[in-house]
Amino acid sequence: MTEKLYSADTLARNPSIVAERQRGNGASVVVIGSGIAGLTAAYRLHQAGLRVTVLEAADTVGGRMGDRRSGEIAFNSGARLVYPFGRAFNRLIADLALGDALIPLRKLSARCVTSRGDHLIELMPTARSLLTPGLPMGERLALIAHAMRMRGQRGRVDPDWAISALDVDPAADQLTLADYIRGEIGPHALASLVEPVFRSTRSFNPETLSSLFYRTTVPHLVGEDTVHTLRGGMGLVCHTLAGQLEVRTGARAVSVEHRCEADVVRVAVTLADGATLEADHVVCAVEGSLAGALIRTPQGAEREMLAAVRYNALGVVHYGFAQPLPALMQFASRDLPSRISTFQQMPAAPASGRPLTQLYCQLTPEAVEEAQQRGCTDDIDTLIRAELRARIPDFDRHVVAVVNQWIPRKLPLFAPGYGERLRAFWRWQEDPARASGRPVVYCGDWTSQALLTGACASGERAAAIVLERVASQAKRTIS
Ligand SMILES: Cc1cc2nc3c(=O)[nH]c(=O)nc-3n(C[C@H](O)[C@H](O)[C@H](O)COP(=O)(O)OP(=O)(O)OC[C@H]3O[C@@H](n4cnc5c(N)ncnc54)[C@H](O)[C@@H]3O)c2cc1C
Repeated sequence: MTEKLYSADTLARNPSIVAERQRGNGASVVVIGSGIAGLTAAYRLHQAGLRVTVLEAADTVGGRMGDRRSGEIAFNSGARLVYPFGRAFNRLIADLALGDALIPLRKLSARCVTSRGDHLIELMPTARSLLTPGLPMGERLALIAHAMRMRGQRGRVDPDWAISALDVDPAADQLTLADYIRGEIGPHALASLVEPVFRSTRSFNPETLSSLFYRTTVPHLVGEDTVHTLRGGMGLVCHTLAGQLEVRTGARAVSVEHRCEADVVRVAVTLADGATLEADHVVCAVEGSLAGALIRTPQGAEREMLAAVRYNALGVVHYGFAQPLPALMQFASRDLPSRISTFQQMPAAPASGRPLTQLYCQLTPEAVEEAQQRGCTDDIDTLIRAELRARIPDFDRHVVAVVNQWIPRKLPLFAPGYGERLRAFWRWQEDPARASGRPVVYCGDWTSQALLTGACASGERAAAIVLERVASQAKRTIS
């Protein structure tokens, strides 16, 4: 019997092909982790007719893409913005008919406060960047050439996959973002434009990252002016997905083991309460630095990858303020002696009449380290209150609520060298020779791009791998 061969992408987009192939196979999958990566994988596998169970350690789904509330303060568990370029995410939104829930935010910008004065920083850069004070003429010209080069690379790099930059420049992974910008444009552009954005939105210093993230996303941002948020909150997509799936919250997986019985490999997932679930396949969609503790005997590229994953931490303090304050978004330049990298004043959305304003104060990478060293990660308000008193008259009198939000794993660190390792990891993960071997497939932002759109793409790709394996197992059974 000859069977038509399909690519993983085709299989992911055409669940009916797989359903047709594996009719009677009844393959089962356990997905560990209900962030956008895990739920996307689960949804695509469920669509293809597999039996899917999602396990989530927390008491709610969504991971770092969700909404939280503490008293009168509403805030995000992580992501606040949806960038327009995520292909897998846009496919998902279309499939779930959630297009109307995307709220466009046009021309987002912040005031960047420096020791020499303020200037405007646009999230999606336009020609206005050329007006940035202090940029020498040579850097202004280099900035124009750089923007054109970036724009020209749009068709060659995929914003969902940081490692796609390696196809354009194999050295991109070894170069830090700081060195790349210094070489491409100059030191002033690094200090005034790039560094404040990376510290304030990503909480990374550019000397700790490779150039991969920048070189895959910026080509898709130049010339654009719109990002989105979601009506009803960032948790909407994950809740919609979970509503169509079997999801067990409060179910922490503690180990994943392979069992080989009569030539059939199955996976056993043990939960913290001692219960065990068996499945034909497991998708491991937890934060990368937690995955290593789950997998009993990682091998080769898997072991190296799991050992290499690092995240940065983040502290945010949210204040409810009884006084109306004008809307404001500020980034702090690194030369300021401030512990706050992003400061935002916005109208509050209380259930009752107070507070009127909500303040969002995100710590600098250095203040995050300080909080860890001092052991005050549950009380980071103490680190920044003096600064806020100096900034806002009668600060203490108007504060009616405080929420300290500590995020131990904010974003995976694509440090120099990480991209090469990740590329090897995907080759290992997609190697057809492994189809009958170890039935665990990994996904998450640490395997793709440190954005929700990248996480979603990785979930789609993980599902495609499982579907390929199911199809190839079905083929072996038939022949
Ligand atoms: C503060 C912050 C701001 C961000 N801003 C943006 C933004 O504006 N735009 C953007 O695109 N991206 C942003 N991101 C990044 C984005 O949120 C993440 O890249 C994305 O949500 C990661 O999804 P994920 O599914 O890979 O991981 P996660 O969402 O972390 O999901 C992993 C899940 O696994 C669960 N889990 C862990 N261990 C176990 C276990 N043993 N058993 C069962 N379950 C387990 C966790 O509870 C979690 O729910 C931001 C992130 C943060 C933290």
